[in-house]
Amino acid sequence: MIRRIINKVFGRASRASRTEAKILPLKMHGIRRDQLDDCALKVCETLAQAGFKGYLVGGAVRDLLLGGTPKDFDVATDATPEEVRRLFRRSRIIGRRFQIVHVMCGRETIEVTTFRANGQKEAEDEDAHGDDSPAPAAPRRLTDEHGRLLSDNVFGSMADDAARRDFTINALYYDPAREEVHDYFGGVGDCKKRMLRMIGDPETRYREDPVRMLRAARFAAKLDFHIDPETRKPVATLAPLLANIPRARIFDEALKLLLSGHALRGVHQLRAEGLHHGMLPLLDTILDDTAGERFITAALKSTDARIQSDRPSSPAFLFATLLWPQVVKRWKALEAGGEKPQPALFAAMDEVLDAQRGQLAIPRRYDGMMKEIWALQPRFEQRGGQRPFRLLEHPRFRAAYDFLLLRAEAGEVPGEFGEWWTRFQEAGEEERAGMLLADAAAKPRRRRKRRKPGEEGARETHPA
Ligand code: ATP
Ligand code: MG
Repeated sequence: MIRRIINKVFGRASRASRTEAKILPLKMHGIRRDQLDDCALKVCETLAQAGFKGYLVGGAVRDLLLGGTPKDFDVATDATPEEVRRLFRRSRIIGRRFQIVHVMCGRETIEVTTFRANGQKEAEDEDAHGDDSPAPAAPRRLTDEHGRLLSDNVFGSMADDAARRDFTINALYYDPAREEVHDYFGGVGDCKKRMLRMIGDPETRYREDPVRMLRAARFAAKLDFHIDPETRKPVATLAPLLANIPRARIFDEALKLLLSGHALRGVHQLRAEGLHHGMLPLLDTILDDTAGERFITAALKSTDARIQSDRPSSPAFLFATLLWPQVVKRWKALEAGGEKPQPALFAAMDEVLDAQRGQLAIPRRYDGMMKEIWALQPRFEQRGGQRPFRLLEHPRFRAAYDFLLLRAEAGEVPGEFGEWWTRFQEAGEEERAGMLLADAAAKPRRRRKRRKPGEEGARETHPA
């Protein structure tokens, strides 16, 4: 088994080091130098002037090729981290095991990475000298028993660097000086076909790093690409390997997917691939429940719209929405069991947060804001007296109000609720007073329709 994996890697790695890049001129890729941001351009130029290679690489090249705007720029070079650091005054080396250099430029940071090889090249060399027994001494040092790469801190050639990347569309190198794209694995063609294709043998590459399965789902959703059938096939059986990945890394990946601007598609992609068990296990419960599904769909749509129009979206808010259907379920169950609404809600919140820790590992630093958003929900029902004014001043009002609108959109609370609060915020003093009156006791007939039982605010202002 181990030997088979090594052979696959050996085959791929030696193929990679022999691979010549296709060098595509401007008219074949259409990326112009002036589309790069000044910092990225400057970094590449400085490297070139010092006699090093300096290419734009990864997501930025892919996004430019697809006509999008890159969100950050990564540069790959043959200079060592120390050499890079010496070239740029405002730069620092990050990381211990594998070092990269952050070059600061204006308010931006460009990540400069030295070409690296997969680390398994060492394994294959030792294996080549070794006897035929399956003694896994060398490979065990570099991969675990599932084939997971434990080491990737070996510098390599540009071809090696391309081969250790995940998908063909992520292994493109752009040379701004010559306006050329170096394409080792047909990534430009795959971009045109809108096809996500793994470099090398997909099964081996997923075993090296199971997170690549999640990345496949994320890129397919974000770019609206098809996943090549060979690339997709192993996922169904290998998905459980995600259990071996540190929870923090899974969480980071979940966040990237949810903040990609295509979270709705991403979440459905995850589920279709059976990957959500390892990442967002709560999706099963949510999506199998009509109310939950409506709420999450509204929440993800709104997050996607915010991101696509460059508005901020906070992770805490997002996770508050993902967990809400469970909170509601528990809340209602506890209430049905005789608990008062408020304590029932608080107990439900704690239970749900505790339960997710073992699964998704949402960092505790988000707990405070999630709880506040949830706890404020019942307070929107109180629309008389001083209470609405107090709620308006709450530091989390905005987030809680956005949350309320999602609940209204999902049909969880009457739409009129959300509208009232929208109006109340925009209204002047006089209109607000009028709204309170209408809601409280001045117009008994309307009040009967609107007022919910237990709406104390009404009684406070207009004692009978
Ligand atoms: P995004 O736009 O989401 O940032 P990206 O392609 O830039 O997409 P990053 O996670 O920033 O993705 O990684 C940068 C590059 O590093 C990728 O394009 C890919 O070439 C390489 N890479 C990142 N993660 C992996 C991985 N797990 N396995 C192999 N290559 C990877
Ligand atoms: Mg990136």
